[in-house]
Amino acid sequence: DGEIEFDNVSFSYDKRTTALHGVSFKVPKGSSVALVGESGAGKSTILRLLYRFYDLPEGGGRILIDGQDIRDVTQKSLRSAIGVVPQDSVLFNTSIAYNIGYGKFGASPEEIEEAAKSAQMHERIVTFPDGYNTKVGERGVRLSGGEKQRVAIARTLLKNPPILLLDEATSALDTSTEKDIQKALQNLQQGRSSLSIAHRLSTIASADVILVLKDGQIVEQGSHAELLALD
Ligand code: ADP
Ligand code: ADP
Repeated sequence: DGEIEFDNVSFSYDKRTTALHGVSFKVPKGSSVALVGESGAGKSTILRLLYRFYDLPEGGGRILIDGQDIRDVTQKSLRSAIGVVPQDSVLFNTSIAYNIGYGKFGASPEEIEEAAKSAQMHERIVTFPDGYNTKVGERGVRLSGGEKQRVAIARTLLKNPPILLLDEATSALDTSTEKDIQKALQNLQQGRSSLSIAHRLSTIASADVILVLKDGQIVEQGSHAELLALD
């Protein structure tokens, strides 16, 4: 599970502008696709439609997951299959472990520790033998942007969805933070289908396929090497 297909998708937020126009592509199971393009090109709209933040109108094409039209599954089951790591993760004003544990109802302290490890947040969490659901320890809201993102990654690891939607921050992070996040993201993407709004060169270079969007259409697509060979 986890294959995504956009089949001739067109979408408008209002009558004057078209956000997507005849967009078709596939994300094969377990592969990573990076969306690149100027602001306003339609990248966020693709993620919002897949998450059914907006529904496609009749005649607007189809979005399929494992061959099934996403309008034919309940929003609840759709959203349990998709993990989202947003640009700016908003955390609860509780412990880091609690913030990570939120990804899975009833997660054990061991599971939380394991997820924290994969997200390079291991040294920052406090767990107790009697559980993680405590307000003791460092608070999520006091973390830096990069740390918040790693908490969001750990939370998504616990949720364990077959599909990931990633929205990379545009702001420059320092190199060590960047490396930690990159490592955590690699651990998260392992074995999952992912669709990323990519800004970092390292993300673009490691994607299986890059889709270049312009004015709501795919204008180029291919691997990093294939796109470099164009011109
Ligand atoms: P960002 O580019 O920071 O991720 P968004 O994804 O929210 O921000 O928005 C992307 C583009 O869509 C921007 O050009 C923004 O101006 C435009 N946009 C977002 N929300 C609206 C809205 N409600 N009405 C009109 N344009 C919007
Ligand atoms: P990107 O993520 O590539 O910056 P978007 O998908 O956010 O682009 O935007 C595609 C187009 O849709 C842009 O013209 C943008 O202004 C418009 N748009 C985005 N969000 C909204 C919204 N909520 N309401 C109206 N127009 C929007």
